[in-house]
Amino acid sequence: MAAYRVMLHRDQLVHDPELLALLESNTTCRWIGARRQIIAYPISRNTIYNISTAHPDVHFAAEPTASWTTRADKSAMLDVYSDFCPLVHRMLALVPEGNVCEWKLRVHHPLKTWVEGNVALVGDACHPTLPGAAQAIEDGATLGVVLGKLTNSNDIHAGLLVYERLRKERTEYLVAQAAASAVALQLADPDAQAARDEAFRQVKYGGSNPDRSVDRQMQDFVYGHDCIKEAEEHFDEYLAVAKGV
Ligand SMILES: Cc1cc2nc3c(=O)[nH]c(=O)nc-3n(C[C@H](O)[C@H](O)[C@H](O)COP(=O)(O)OP(=O)(O)OC[C@H]3O[C@@H](n4cnc5c(N)ncnc54)[C@H](O)[C@@H]3O)c2cc1C
Repeated sequence: MAAYRVMLHRDQLVHDPELLALLESNTTCRWIGARRQIIAYPISRNTIYNISTAHPDVHFAAEPTASWTTRADKSAMLDVYSDFCPLVHRMLALVPEGNVCEWKLRVHHPLKTWVEGNVALVGDACHPTLPGAAQAIEDGATLGVVLGKLTNSNDIHAGLLVYERLRKERTEYLVAQAAASAVALQLADPDAQAARDEAFRQVKYGGSNPDRSVDRQMQDFVYGHDCIKEAEEHFDEYLAVAKGV
């Protein structure tokens, strides 16, 4: 998949009351369609409307390239979303010509290990997630606790294994959940779409949300987790195992 990422400033939106209302809301909007979706929300104290899309990457190359962004053509972007609603057309039409960038979105298989000697990977380098910034931040916080507790520089490798043990399962689960959510939001089969839309309707009666990022239980799992407390609680036990004591 690939994404267009767009930021519209207030002065570009003031002439369109419907778009201005979106900028002034504190709401995230999603427009979902077959194999494509758009998510948008105000940022920078409601001065900028941030838009991110997802669609099949037609420039997909089997070989990795040095760059993960491509300068894209505005008319191609408008084409991709031509069957979306008029509001979306007006929003995308405001993007200045020559200012369209297409990002590649990729899913990686879990790595066998994040640690080699005294070097460890963190964040997207070891668990690229859409979205996943909170996971990179938790990695940093966990590393801080673990390294802060070491008293002997000979234990750095074992300490990094403790960090990996604390983080790997959780982040891999969340990467898989993010991927599953993307699939659910971009279904092309009409029957599957109808079942998903029914699941959306059932959310208010306690059903789980096909959009995992706003599912109540998932939000508790993501934001209710105290990675620092967990690291402090398990450090001694995990370090002993890592050192083979
Ligand atoms: C389109 C898109 C939308 C997303 N939306 C969200 C979202 O809404 N919410 C969310 O939580 N997450 C989102 N994410 C995920 C989030 O951006 C990442 O999980 C997060 O940025 C990972 O942080 P990181 O520090 O590991 O890596 P990065 O943020 O990628 O930071 C790595 C840094 O290292 C630099 N770097 C690379 N190579 C070198 C080098 N050799 N020398 C020096 N510096 C180098 C890079 O330039 C970069 O600044 C999104 C990702 C994408 C692609």
